[in-house]
Amino acid sequence: MTTQEVFAFYTDHFLIPTGWTTDYPWLVAGFTTRKGGVSQFPFSSFNCALHVGDSAQAVLANRQRLVEQLGLTLDDMVCGEQVHGVELYYVRPGDKGRGSRTRESAIPGVDGLYTDHPSILLTSFYADCVPLYFIDVRLRVVGLAHAGWKGTVGQIGPKMVRRWKEQFGSHPQDIKVLIGPSIGGCCYEVDDRVISALEPLKGCFTDEVILPKPNGRYMLDLKQLNHDLLKQAGIPQANIEVSGWCTSCRTDLFFSYRKEQGRTGRLASFIMIK
Ligand SMILES: [Zn+2]
Repeated sequence: MTTQEVFAFYTDHFLIPTGWTTDYPWLVAGFTTRKGGVSQFPFSSFNCALHVGDSAQAVLANRQRLVEQLGLTLDDMVCGEQVHGVELYYVRPGDKGRGSRTRESAIPGVDGLYTDHPSILLTSFYADCVPLYFIDVRLRVVGLAHAGWKGTVGQIGPKMVRRWKEQFGSHPQDIKVLIGPSIGGCCYEVDDRVISALEPLKGCFTDEVILPKPNGRYMLDLKQLNHDLLKQAGIPQANIEVSGWCTSCRTDLFFSYRKEQGRTGRLASFIMIK
């Protein structure tokens, strides 16, 4: 797995995958930082999620700042509910604005969003979980998947690839995937419960994914696991890029659920066809 840094600062508020956005001028994509927003501690300051106990007014002001910088409005944004599941949703123009102002209007029960329609900003929210970005560079399809350990083990990444093959006739060699900033193998300690959930996937991932510790627990590298599962699903290794940023190591830049004991904000991943 190559861990060259694929995201660079665009503004204080967000990073962009410079390689992708240079190679594909039709694409908008990025990942927010925790900087430059209006939310108060412990959501300080650019919290983008409505479900964490922050003031809705602050969250909407932050989201407004984000969409303005992209030349968009909140009516262009679409959010899923995110339930640590593996359901995917095909976003159409009629869905625009869902979840952007209220949590109730988000697309229920889904952790993955994709579309082949332009001018729809797909967004999802994170504090340590793994953001997966997908593009079909031939057919111009974009997608996002929220992969915590449950979504990763449930293979939400490979599921997106299968869905695109069925629905659009995508070829895996045309699909590129970015694995965004998230908790690294350096910081993600888990117990037997998580490791036993990985049993059915044995043989589908490399030894680096699980590192046993003397205390009977394990360090789990979720980025590597997602990478390995996507490779198993037929995505060429050269098409998968992985961010080196660990959200738990870098709470100066990112929110981390683990590091901040659950009391923190959420970062936003976003992707759109121009
Ligand atoms: Zn770390």
